[in-house]
Amino acid sequence: MKPAPFEYHRPTSVAEAASLLEAHGDAELLAGNQSLGIVMANRLATPDHLIDLNAVEDLDYVEERDGEIAVGAMTTHRTIERSALLADRLPMLPEAAEQIAGPSVRNRGTLGGSVGEADPAGNYPAALLALDADLELVSEDDSRTVAIADYFIAYMFTELRENEIIAAATVPTDPFPTERTGMAFLELKPAAQTWPTVSAASAIRVDDPDAADPKVEEARLALANAADVPLRVEEAEDALEGEPLSEETLDAAADAATAAARPEDEMHADSDFKEEVAGEYARRSLSTSYERATNN
Ligand SMILES: Cc1cc2nc3c(=O)[nH]c(=O)nc-3n(C[C@H](O)[C@H](O)[C@H](O)COP(=O)(O)OP(=O)(O)OC[C@H]3O[C@@H](n4cnc5c(N)ncnc54)[C@H](O)[C@@H]3O)c2cc1C
Repeated sequence: MKPAPFEYHRPTSVAEAASLLEAHGDAELLAGNQSLGIVMANRLATPDHLIDLNAVEDLDYVEERDGEIAVGAMTTHRTIERSALLADRLPMLPEAAEQIAGPSVRNRGTLGGSVGEADPAGNYPAALLALDADLELVSEDDSRTVAIADYFIAYMFTELRENEIIAAATVPTDPFPTERTGMAFLELKPAAQTWPTVSAASAIRVDDPDAADPKVEEARLALANAADVPLRVEEAEDALEGEPLSEETLDAAADAATAAARPEDEMHADSDFKEEVAGEYARRSLSTSYERATNN
């Protein structure tokens, strides 16, 4: 099937894109077209207007600002995967990007498209949740910042208003001093090009990486595809904080992840299996983050 007819717009600035969005009620934003194209070809979305963001160059960047790193919405998975700044400061994001599908999807797909789509199995939604990111949302007359923790409301339903564009995600860097922080994004997936069964995004900051038994000062854990929204698991974080990592604290964190998960059955993974994977990948991800934090 082919998409239903639509009028195509190609703005060159965020302001122009926002005013087109305001002017045309029934419009969709187009980013990497790795998800929207499929939905439109199946006529599950039939917008009258398509607003292509690919000529809006000022949405494509990764930059360090005062106490935070900002990633523009049109930054591709490939750019995130290869960013030296992110590899150094927020390595969870390149690790999440490099596991998305294959090279053709990564060359075109964008961070903004992934957060806009808000699939609970998506890599960035879970990673950004673990990193406590903020989203910059822009409309013709306004701009606002929404904490990612408040953004995902229900299955593929978000805080984004119809007249808003995601401009960027920003991550505060103070909680993650590189010399004593480790991060990991681990996922189980049946084949390279498929979406994950469950993913676990984690970060751990220790008190002193050179100590005999470094204590976990702060832990972060978020799961993808373990519920109808990306899932932060604070009970797992609490189980680790204040003590050196041990089999006991890891068991408690893994149990907390299994208990928090409320996944749907899928063709190749029923909900019981996904709950088990949530616990096991939480354990592996947290253990990898701790190892990285103590071996910087
Ligand atoms: C075979 C395959 C496997 C995949 N596997 C994975 C995977 O394992 N993990 C994963 O995370 N993703 C996966 N994806 C999805 C991929 O990451 C997509 O690139 C992404 O979800 C959508 O990004 P896009 O830039 O292509 O957006 P588009 O398809 O262009 O848009 C998606 C939606 O977001 C909206 N949108 C786009 N940009 C903005 C913006 N700036 N502001 C507001 N709304 C916006 C659009 O209007 C649309 O509704 C896979 C895709 C394919 C085809």
